[in-house]
Amino acid sequence: MFKSGEPNQEKYLYDHFIPYYSPPQDIGEFSMWFIFYQNELLIQEKQDSYHIPLLNMVEREKLPLINQIYLGQYDSIHCFGAELNSKTSIPSGYQTLGLRQLFGLIRDNFLVLAGRANHLLYWDSTTQFCGRCGHTTQLKTDERAKECPQCGLIIYPQLAPAVIILIEKENEILLARSPRFKPGMYSVVAGFVEPGETLEQAVMREIHEEVGIKVHHIHYFGSQHWPFPQSLMIAFTAEYLSGQITIDHREIEDANWFTIENLPPIPSKMSISRRLIDWFIEKQTNKLKKKEL
Ligand SMILES: [Zn+2]
Repeated sequence: MFKSGEPNQEKYLYDHFIPYYSPPQDIGEFSMWFIFYQNELLIQEKQDSYHIPLLNMVEREKLPLINQIYLGQYDSIHCFGAELNSKTSIPSGYQTLGLRQLFGLIRDNFLVLAGRANHLLYWDSTTQFCGRCGHTTQLKTDERAKECPQCGLIIYPQLAPAVIILIEKENEILLARSPRFKPGMYSVVAGFVEPGETLEQAVMREIHEEVGIKVHHIHYFGSQHWPFPQSLMIAFTAEYLSGQITIDHREIEDANWFTIENLPPIPSKMSISRRLIDWFIEKQTNKLKKKEL
C-alpha cells in the first residue's frame, strides 16, 4: 500500500541527474561542486539566494580541495563532491551551512546530491586502505566501488538501514522522547536493522525493545536517505496490538499516546518522521471533517 509519504525530493531527481563513476577527460567550462568544510556545505549567497558553486578551472585551483569524488551529470553539468582543507579559512564570497539548515534554501535535488556527496566522501575517506590486507585501494571506473589491487577485495559504499515507525491506536499515535532530542521534542520510534533481520522483524523488535508493546498490520510508507553519515530510513505505519507502554530507559526517556489535539513539539519538515506524523494528522483531520458533515 502506498500512502502520501512518497519522497518529495527524489521524485524528479533522475529527470535531471545521471550518476557516473568516473569523470570524462573534458568536464566543460563549468562544473558544480558540493564542497564540505568541517562537515558543512560551502555555498555562495547572491542576492539573498543560495547557490551551489559552479566553478571553472581557475576558481577551482584557488580552493584547497581534498578528497574529490565524481558524482555524475546534472542537466549536462558535471558534478563533484569534495572537501575543503579544514586548516584553511572559508574563502571570501562563500559561507557554510549544515545540510539540515539548507532544507528549503536550495533546490531539493541539490540537497539530495549534497547528501550523496557527503556520504561518498565519508566512504572514500574511510576506505583508503583494504580492510583485509592493508594495501591502498583504487576506485573502480565501472561501478561505485573500490578494489584492492593486492587481494581483489571489492568495497561498496555502506548503507545502514534503519526502520522508523508510526504506531496508531485509533485516534492516537505513540511518540517517544530520546535524551538526545531537543528539550520537549517527541518523535516516532526508530532503530537500526540488525544483520539477518527482515525489515518487518526489525520493526517488531525495535518497538518491543523501546516501548514494550506489540503491533500488527505493518505497511510500508516511504524512505529517505539520511546522510548523517550513511543511513537509509525506511518508514512504516503499524497498528497497536497489545501490551502496556514500558520504556527501556536506555534509548527512550518517555513515551506516550497522543491525539492530534495534544501533540508535543515534533521534528522539522525535513525528516520522514515528520512526514509520517503529518500523514496521521491529515488522516485524522479528514475523519473529523467527515463527522461534522
Ligand atoms: Zn586487500
